[in-house]
Amino acid sequence: MGLLGAHVSSAGGVSKAWPRAAEIGCDALQLFVKNASTWKAKPLADAEVGAFHAARAATTGPGASAPLPVVAHASYLINLASPAEENLERSRAALADELLRCSALGVDGLVVHPGAHMGEGAANGLATIARSLDAVFARHPEITTRLLLENTAGQGTVLGASVAELATIVAALDEPGRVGLCLDTCHAFAAGIDLRDPDAYEGFLAEIAGALTLPRIEAWHLNDSKGALGTHKDRHESIGQGALGTEPFARLLADERFAATPMILETPLGDDGDGHARDLVVLRGLHAGGKG
Ligand SMILES: [Zn+2]
Ligand SMILES: [Zn+2]
Repeated sequence: MGLLGAHVSSAGGVSKAWPRAAEIGCDALQLFVKNASTWKAKPLADAEVGAFHAARAATTGPGASAPLPVVAHASYLINLASPAEENLERSRAALADELLRCSALGVDGLVVHPGAHMGEGAANGLATIARSLDAVFARHPEITTRLLLENTAGQGTVLGASVAELATIVAALDEPGRVGLCLDTCHAFAAGIDLRDPDAYEGFLAEIAGALTLPRIEAWHLNDSKGALGTHKDRHESIGQGALGTEPFARLLADERFAATPMILETPLGDDGDGHARDLVVLRGLHAGGKG
């Protein structure tokens, strides 16, 4: 079984994410390293960086010992394919800032949505994304955190819903070795990959493995889908409560290829805020059931 975890709040300081993750039984976690809905952010204080490292060293999960894997999710404002020069430059600067924060914190990977072409066409957008990533890495050789490109639902002009588009971006990079993949189950399903079907699941993984330019899958986002297959809706649902149901998750948890891969919930928290804790119990139950 992969290293199960969730996106946890970093309200009050990034180091606060660790006790929150421990409380709900995480073996891996995801957090924001700055407010995800604003451009500007104060620099990380040295004391907060130290507190983050200390908390990580002290936090164990029910199935994994310290240090647990940790990824961050980049701000939703960033558009690395923006045709507007000012917005593009702001996006590149914001991505660099997040990667530098992650590097200081020792975060393993920063999950980034590739971008949206805003009417300029997919080919232009994909080329712009690759130039954006090249620019960020060229300007900041001190970045140590890996950049994890996430597959998308393909809503509107959003790029990265298909294996072919992800492969096109990576093939155009100067330093493809700095990039990995984060796959989101809801996004894949919304993009038309029927993960309920074992053959479609294997076909999806085979397509990724066969795209020689594509890097390793370094994280999963485990989300059920409110929208039906192929509807391009990025609407997450609690595990087993959406159109995917429980079977695709049982299959993924039993897949030995991902036994050491972080698997992060981004499902609804619910009125009581306990949604992730409940979904972790559901997932562990599915895995135990599948074994028996
Ligand atoms: Zn995402
Ligand atoms: Zn999503």
